[in-house]
Amino acid sequence: MSKIKVKIEQLRKDLRNHNHNYYVLDTPSISDYDFDILLKELETLEADNPEFYDANSPTQRVGGTVTKDFNTVTHKNRMYSLANSYSKEDLLDWENRVKKIVGVEQIEYTCELKYDGASINLSYQNGKLVNAVTRGDGFQGDEVTANIKTISSIPLVLQENLLDNFEIRGEIILPLKGFHKMNEDREEAGLELYRNPRNTASGSLKLQDSSLVAERPLDCLLYQVVGESKFETHAKTLEQARKAGFKVPIDLRVCQSIDEVFEFIEYWDTERHNLDYETDGVVIKVNSLHYQEELGYTAKAPRWAIAYKFKTEQAISKLVSIDYQVGRTGAITPVANLKPVQLAGTTVKRASIHNADQIAKLDLRINDTIFVEKGGEIIPKIVGVDLEKRPQDSKPVEYITHCPDCKTKLERKEGDAKHYCPNVYGCPTQNKERIQHFISRKAMNIDGLGAETIELLYDANLIQNYADLYDLRAEQIIPLERMAEKSAQNIVAGIQASKKIPFEKVLYGLGIRYVGETVAKKLARHFKSIDKLMTASLETLVSVDEIGERIAQSILDFSNDLLNMQLVESLKQYGVQLEIDESQSTTQSAILQGKKLVVSGVFTKFSRNELKQSIEDNGGKVSSSISSKTDYLIAGDKMGPAKRTKAEKLEIKIISEDEYILLIAG
Ligand code: AMP
Ligand code: ZN
Repeated sequence: MSKIKVKIEQLRKDLRNHNHNYYVLDTPSISDYDFDILLKELETLEADNPEFYDANSPTQRVGGTVTKDFNTVTHKNRMYSLANSYSKEDLLDWENRVKKIVGVEQIEYTCELKYDGASINLSYQNGKLVNAVTRGDGFQGDEVTANIKTISSIPLVLQENLLDNFEIRGEIILPLKGFHKMNEDREEAGLELYRNPRNTASGSLKLQDSSLVAERPLDCLLYQVVGESKFETHAKTLEQARKAGFKVPIDLRVCQSIDEVFEFIEYWDTERHNLDYETDGVVIKVNSLHYQEELGYTAKAPRWAIAYKFKTEQAISKLVSIDYQVGRTGAITPVANLKPVQLAGTTVKRASIHNADQIAKLDLRINDTIFVEKGGEIIPKIVGVDLEKRPQDSKPVEYITHCPDCKTKLERKEGDAKHYCPNVYGCPTQNKERIQHFISRKAMNIDGLGAETIELLYDANLIQNYADLYDLRAEQIIPLERMAEKSAQNIVAGIQASKKIPFEKVLYGLGIRYVGETVAKKLARHFKSIDKLMTASLETLVSVDEIGERIAQSILDFSNDLLNMQLVESLKQYGVQLEIDESQSTTQSAILQGKKLVVSGVFTKFSRNELKQSIEDNGGKVSSSISSKTDYLIAGDKMGPAKRTKAEKLEIKIISEDEYILLIAG
């Protein structure tokens, strides 16, 4: 074998191990930075020596293939559903049927959680992934191999081979933390939020561009090896699969009796709320593979397994009225006002309804008796109407046709789920929300100024847009409701101080649709000034890494608007940073590249935001909670004792603010 081939093989093997340690075992064996270096090295070698191409190389995980139509593939082994049960009685009935067919008195079970995502069938040959197919109708599914390869916890090459040929099944899930992060980004960019993790996970599998799938923090939990096994039981087979490199959750339990099954169910009924993914039940399986074979299948589901569904917490209430909220981008969101009701430990008064289609689908009417549920979402949702209790004179809700604030006729473009108020610069709510966004923490971060004050200032006609803020004088503010002289002066001082805020934050603060925090950072670093950005053509804009046509078009729309040009011009006159201050970039380095830092407590030399910014400027990542992956905990005053204990237990370096300053000074 050539020297280069040996080197390539070694790199692939090392990267596979690191990957397995990080994504499957959750015990990283290398820093992200060092991992990237190895990966780059492999990429270069592969590019220079195309004869050693391997579809299962770790370099193939970043995606890039575009699939227009997914192949339909017939499953070798049908993918069945599961029978459901909702009570102990249901389970006892099932156990009796099982015992009768098998003809024994005691049966061993395995209990696993029912992972709520999209099922997938993975085929391996000689230790390598050959294809991945969705469940489809159970007989045939779509081949989504290119997308599946981007999921880091799925082994492309096994650590240890199981059988020459085998299939394994699992659930593609989107962990909650990742899901919320995706939605935060969308919220900032003014995009419609994803509804729930399950639909987002299954939708991800059908994206045409696999590099978009690669960006989503998907995971895959395995629950069944299909076909023959070297082992007698389901549990042993899964254990072996775990050794081979698959992510088989360790919560699986072997139970000697149905009573132990009940214990497992009771435990997880409450404990599930602490998981980082959604589960809607428990799957109970007969552990012996031999018995499984004897039991076989009904027309729809295996007889050897059953799902137990947790009760979703539901409450009955009454729909009192519907409010329509106008967002910063003009999107209209209906919100239901309910008769207050207790649900999962809190009093619920409002529920989200998303959009007009949702109202029509549920046929919601005022005074209807409705069912509310709490799912993964923070605000509860209405899931149905009790038609028997509907008042006789009730009429369908007529969705508003005009903006509740400025009365402009609403628009709904094709493909949009929501109605929009098109009166972007004349609609008071949109104007206020834009100013509120401008002063928010992640943008201009103006001390002493909050949403309510903006409302007062706007209503008193003291400001019409964010540029007007810089013209405010304390005497003008003092007469406002509940305003003291001191706080008025603080506001003015805070506004003046914001002139030092760097360009990328100002750009984010302008509130251009689809330009969230990350995009703003990219644009600022690329174009370096607002003038260059606002005069860039569509071609120039889309040529920037990760800037797509939708963002580019939105920037053009913004720049071509006379009002925006004037606004930007005024900001410039007032001395707001509209270009990158090169003197600031010297404080940037790559010294924290690949490092994860947690910040806790209060600091004297930085505000918490400045500290976080500084970490990012030096290449590090800020995470909110301590884990084994944390490199440093920067401890300030009044840090919680629990954080310290956890950091000490995990042997994470705890440093002070001053030590941090020394660290970045190299
Ligand atoms: P259902 O779609 O309700 O008929 O339930 C069957 C589906 O549950 C399967 O297709 C799997 O995708 C999913 N599932 C989730 N967790 C498990 C598990 N631990 N064992 C078996 N199936 C599971
Ligand atoms: Zn309006």
